Amino acid sequence: MYAIIGGTGVYQLNVSIQNLNIETEYGDVDLDFIEFDNGEKVYFLSRHGKDHSKPPHNVNYRANIMALSLLGVKYIYATAAVGSMNKKFIPGDIVLVNDFIDFTKSRVMTYYEGETGVKHVDMSDPYCSNLSNLFLKRAEESKVDIKGTAIYLTTEGPRFETKAEINMYKNFADVVGMTSVPEVVLAKELGMCYATIGIITNWCTGFKSEITLHDIESSMNMNKEKLTELFIDIFSNENLNQNNCKCNDSIIKL
Ligand SMILES: [Zn+2]
Repeated sequence: MYAIIGGTGVYQLNVSIQNLNIETEYGDVDLDFIEFDNGEKVYFLSRHGKDHSKPPHNVNYRANIMALSLLGVKYIYATAAVGSMNKKFIPGDIVLVNDFIDFTKSRVMTYYEGETGVKHVDMSDPYCSNLSNLFLKRAEESKVDIKGTAIYLTTEGPRFETKAEINMYKNFADVVGMTSVPEVVLAKELGMCYATIGIITNWCTGFKSEITLHDIESSMNMNKEKLTELFIDIFSNENLNQNNCKCNDSIIKL
Protein backbone atom coordinates (compact mmCIF):
# COMPACT_ATOMS: atom_id res chain seq x y z
CA MET A 1 0.00 0.00 0.00
CA TYR A 2 1.05 3.59 -0.67
CA ALA A 3 0.49 7.03 0.76
CA ILE A 4 0.81 10.70 -0.10
CA ILE A 5 1.14 13.11 2.79
CA GLY A 6 0.27 16.75 2.50
CA GLY A 7 -0.83 16.38 -1.06
CA THR A 8 -3.93 18.16 -2.03
CA GLY A 9 -4.69 18.61 -5.70
CA VAL A 10 -5.75 15.00 -6.09
CA TYR A 11 -9.33 16.18 -6.12
CA GLN A 12 -8.87 17.32 -9.67
CA LEU A 13 -8.03 13.80 -10.78
CA ASN A 14 -10.65 11.72 -12.49
CA VAL A 15 -10.78 9.00 -9.87
CA SER A 16 -13.31 8.07 -7.23
CA ILE A 17 -12.13 8.92 -3.76
CA GLN A 18 -13.31 7.24 -0.58
CA ASN A 19 -12.54 8.19 2.99
CA LEU A 20 -12.02 6.48 6.30
CA ASN A 21 -11.09 7.16 9.89
CA ILE A 22 -8.36 5.10 11.57
CA GLU A 23 -7.96 4.87 15.32
CA THR A 24 -4.46 4.57 16.73
CA GLU A 25 -3.15 4.59 20.28
CA TYR A 26 -2.00 8.19 19.66
CA GLY A 27 -5.31 9.51 18.30
CA ASP A 28 -7.51 9.01 15.27
CA VAL A 29 -6.76 10.09 11.72
CA ASP A 30 -8.96 10.96 8.73
CA LEU A 31 -7.75 9.73 5.36
CA ASP A 32 -8.90 9.55 1.76
CA PHE A 33 -7.94 6.78 -0.60
CA ILE A 34 -8.19 5.53 -4.15
CA GLU A 35 -7.97 1.90 -5.20
CA PHE A 36 -6.18 0.47 -8.22
CA ASP A 37 -7.64 -2.43 -10.21
CA ASN A 38 -5.26 -4.85 -8.44
CA GLY A 39 -6.68 -3.89 -5.03
CA GLU A 40 -3.67 -1.78 -3.94
CA LYS A 41 -4.63 1.55 -2.42
CA VAL A 42 -3.11 5.01 -2.28
CA TYR A 43 -3.98 6.86 0.93
CA PHE A 44 -4.02 10.66 1.13
CA LEU A 45 -3.26 12.19 4.45
CA SER A 46 -3.63 15.89 4.99
CA ARG A 47 -0.85 16.64 7.46
CA HIS A 48 -2.55 19.63 9.07
CA GLY A 49 -5.98 18.00 9.08
CA LYS A 50 -8.58 18.24 6.34
CA ASP A 51 -9.66 21.66 7.58
CA HIS A 52 -6.01 22.79 7.99
CA SER A 53 -6.59 23.34 11.70
CA LYS A 54 -3.39 21.94 13.22
CA PRO A 55 -0.31 24.21 13.27
CA PRO A 56 3.06 22.49 12.63
CA HIS A 57 4.00 22.11 16.31
CA ASN A 58 0.62 20.49 17.09
CA VAL A 59 0.38 18.04 14.20
CA ASN A 60 -0.18 14.56 15.60
CA TYR A 61 2.79 13.06 13.75
CA ARG A 62 2.77 9.79 15.64
CA ALA A 63 -0.94 9.18 14.95
CA ASN A 64 -0.53 10.09 11.27
CA ILE A 65 2.38 7.73 10.59
CA MET A 66 0.98 4.95 12.79
CA ALA A 67 -2.37 5.09 10.94
CA LEU A 68 -0.54 4.57 7.64
CA SER A 69 1.49 1.73 9.10
CA LEU A 70 -1.66 0.02 10.41
CA LEU A 71 -3.08 0.22 6.89
CA GLY A 72 -0.04 -1.63 5.55
CA VAL A 73 1.56 1.38 3.86
CA LYS A 74 5.21 0.83 2.94
CA TYR A 75 5.87 3.72 0.55
CA ILE A 76 5.17 7.39 1.24
CA TYR A 77 5.68 10.51 -0.82
CA ALA A 78 5.27 13.71 1.17
CA THR A 79 5.07 17.25 -0.11
CA ALA A 80 6.25 20.18 1.96
CA ALA A 81 5.85 23.90 1.51
CA VAL A 82 9.22 25.47 2.27
CA GLY A 83 10.96 28.82 2.34
CA SER A 84 14.16 29.25 0.36
CA MET A 85 17.42 30.57 1.73
CA ASN A 86 19.39 29.45 -1.32
CA LYS A 87 19.32 31.91 -4.23
CA LYS A 88 19.27 28.97 -6.67
CA PHE A 89 15.72 28.08 -5.57
CA ILE A 90 13.01 30.67 -6.15
CA PRO A 91 9.33 30.64 -5.14
CA GLY A 92 7.41 28.22 -7.36
CA ASP A 93 10.39 25.85 -7.77
CA ILE A 94 10.28 22.16 -6.87
CA VAL A 95 13.20 20.53 -5.04
CA LEU A 96 13.97 17.04 -3.84
CA VAL A 97 14.74 16.97 -0.12
CA ASN A 98 17.76 14.76 0.56
CA ASP A 99 18.67 15.43 4.20
CA PHE A 100 17.52 17.42 7.21
CA ILE A 101 18.75 19.42 10.17
CA ASP A 102 16.47 19.46 13.19
CA PHE A 103 15.90 22.69 15.10
CA THR A 104 12.56 21.71 16.65
CA LYS A 105 12.25 22.03 20.40
CA SER A 106 9.13 20.46 21.86
CA ARG A 107 8.02 17.50 19.76
CA VAL A 108 7.72 13.83 20.54
CA MET A 109 10.22 12.30 18.13
CA THR A 110 9.86 8.58 18.57
CA TYR A 111 7.69 5.51 19.08
CA TYR A 112 10.43 3.97 21.21
CA GLU A 113 10.00 5.27 24.74
CA GLY A 114 11.90 2.41 26.33
CA GLU A 115 9.10 -0.12 26.92
CA THR A 116 10.60 -2.47 24.36
CA GLY A 117 14.23 -1.73 25.17
CA VAL A 118 16.43 1.11 24.00
CA LYS A 119 16.30 1.55 20.24
CA HIS A 120 17.95 4.07 17.94
CA VAL A 121 17.07 4.69 14.33
CA ASP A 122 19.80 5.15 11.71
CA MET A 123 19.61 8.52 9.94
CA SER A 124 22.41 8.12 7.40
CA ASP A 125 19.80 8.02 4.62
CA PRO A 126 16.68 9.64 6.12
CA TYR A 127 14.81 10.11 2.84
CA CYS A 128 14.55 6.85 0.87
CA SER A 129 17.01 6.97 -2.02
CA ASN A 130 14.91 4.47 -4.00
CA LEU A 131 11.76 6.56 -3.90
CA SER A 132 13.77 9.76 -4.43
CA ASN A 133 15.57 8.42 -7.51
CA LEU A 134 12.37 7.02 -8.98
CA PHE A 135 10.75 10.39 -8.51
CA LEU A 136 13.62 12.16 -10.31
CA LYS A 137 13.45 9.70 -13.19
CA ARG A 138 9.68 9.98 -13.67
CA ALA A 139 9.78 13.76 -13.27
CA GLU A 140 12.34 14.01 -16.04
CA GLU A 141 10.31 11.74 -18.31
CA SER A 142 7.21 13.81 -17.60
CA LYS A 143 9.10 17.09 -18.15
CA VAL A 144 8.44 18.27 -14.61
CA ASP A 145 11.30 20.57 -13.74
CA ILE A 146 13.12 19.67 -10.50
CA LYS A 147 15.54 22.43 -9.55
CA GLY A 148 17.87 20.31 -7.45
CA THR A 149 18.34 18.59 -4.13
CA ALA A 150 17.91 20.49 -0.90
CA ILE A 151 18.77 20.14 2.76
CA TYR A 152 15.67 20.89 4.84
CA LEU A 153 16.07 22.70 8.13
CA THR A 154 13.09 22.08 10.41
CA THR A 155 12.11 24.82 12.81
CA GLU A 156 9.59 24.58 15.63
CA GLY A 157 7.28 27.33 14.36
CA PRO A 158 4.65 28.49 14.13
CA ARG A 159 6.59 31.75 14.07
CA PHE A 160 8.88 32.45 11.14
CA GLU A 161 12.64 32.78 11.60
CA THR A 162 14.55 35.92 12.46
CA LYS A 163 17.11 37.44 10.08
CA ALA A 164 19.89 36.35 12.42
CA GLU A 165 18.62 32.78 12.46
CA ILE A 166 18.43 32.63 8.66
CA ASN A 167 21.93 34.10 8.44
CA MET A 168 23.13 31.14 10.45
CA TYR A 169 20.89 28.47 8.87
CA LYS A 170 21.77 29.36 5.28
CA ASN A 171 25.31 28.13 5.84
CA PHE A 172 24.06 24.60 6.46
CA ALA A 173 20.78 24.10 4.61
CA ASP A 174 18.81 25.27 1.54
CA VAL A 175 15.21 25.42 2.65
CA VAL A 176 13.29 25.90 5.87
CA GLY A 177 10.05 24.23 6.90
CA MET A 178 8.25 23.21 10.06
CA THR A 179 7.05 19.66 9.47
CA SER A 180 9.57 17.21 8.00
CA VAL A 181 10.86 16.32 11.46
CA PRO A 182 9.62 14.19 13.13
CA GLU A 183 7.55 12.82 10.20
CA VAL A 184 10.55 11.39 8.35
CA VAL A 185 11.99 9.93 11.56
CA LEU A 186 8.77 8.18 12.60
CA ALA A 187 8.32 6.69 9.13
CA LYS A 188 11.82 5.25 9.31
CA GLU A 189 11.18 3.87 12.80
CA LEU A 190 8.25 1.91 11.37
CA GLY A 191 10.30 0.62 8.45
CA MET A 192 8.64 2.65 5.72
CA CYS A 193 10.19 4.18 2.61
CA TYR A 194 9.59 7.92 2.77
CA ALA A 195 10.61 10.70 0.39
CA THR A 196 9.83 14.42 0.43
CA ILE A 197 9.38 16.89 -2.39
CA GLY A 198 9.65 20.53 -1.41
CA ILE A 199 7.65 23.28 -3.07
CA ILE A 200 9.26 26.69 -2.55
CA THR A 201 6.51 29.05 -1.45
CA ASN A 202 8.46 32.05 -0.21
CA TRP A 203 11.86 33.55 0.47
CA CYS A 204 13.12 33.26 4.02
CA THR A 205 13.33 36.32 6.22
CA GLY A 206 15.84 38.83 4.89
CA PHE A 207 15.71 37.62 1.27
CA LYS A 208 14.11 39.99 -1.26
CA SER A 209 11.46 38.84 -3.71
CA GLU A 210 10.22 40.36 -6.94
CA ILE A 211 7.66 37.65 -7.47
CA THR A 212 4.03 38.45 -6.72
CA LEU A 213 1.76 36.40 -4.52
CA HIS A 214 -0.42 35.62 -7.51
CA ASP A 215 2.50 34.00 -9.36
CA ILE A 216 3.34 31.87 -6.34
CA GLU A 217 -0.22 30.70 -5.79
CA SER A 218 -0.79 29.68 -9.38
CA SER A 219 2.52 27.84 -9.66
CA MET A 220 1.86 26.18 -6.28
CA ASN A 221 -1.49 24.84 -7.44
CA MET A 222 -0.05 23.68 -10.73
CA ASN A 223 2.86 21.98 -8.97
CA LYS A 224 0.69 20.23 -6.40
CA GLU A 225 -1.45 18.73 -9.12
CA LYS A 226 1.56 17.66 -11.20
CA LEU A 227 3.27 16.11 -8.19
CA THR A 228 0.23 14.15 -7.10
CA GLU A 229 -0.17 12.77 -10.62
CA LEU A 230 3.50 11.78 -10.67
CA PHE A 231 3.27 10.01 -7.31
CA ILE A 232 0.23 8.04 -8.41
CA ASP A 233 1.92 7.23 -11.70
CA ILE A 234 4.94 5.83 -9.82
CA PHE A 235 2.78 3.84 -7.39
CA SER A 236 0.73 2.31 -10.18
CA ASN A 237 3.53 1.55 -12.65
CA GLU A 238 6.73 0.86 -10.72
CA ASN A 239 7.47 -2.44 -9.08
CA LEU A 240 8.53 -1.05 -5.69
CA ASN A 241 10.46 -3.14 -3.21
CA GLN A 242 12.64 -2.56 -0.19
CA ASN A 243 15.58 -4.68 -1.34
CA ASN A 244 17.66 -1.71 -2.49
CA CYS A 245 17.34 0.50 0.57
CA LYS A 246 17.78 0.15 4.30
CA CYS A 247 14.47 1.74 5.29
CA ASN A 248 13.12 -1.52 6.62
CA ASP A 249 16.26 -2.27 8.59
CA SER A 250 17.28 0.93 10.34
CA ILE A 251 16.70 0.16 13.99
CA ILE A 252 19.75 -0.31 16.17
CA LYS A 253 18.98 -2.09 19.43
CA LEU A 254 21.17 -1.63 22.47
ZN1 LIG B 1 13.41 2.82 1.23
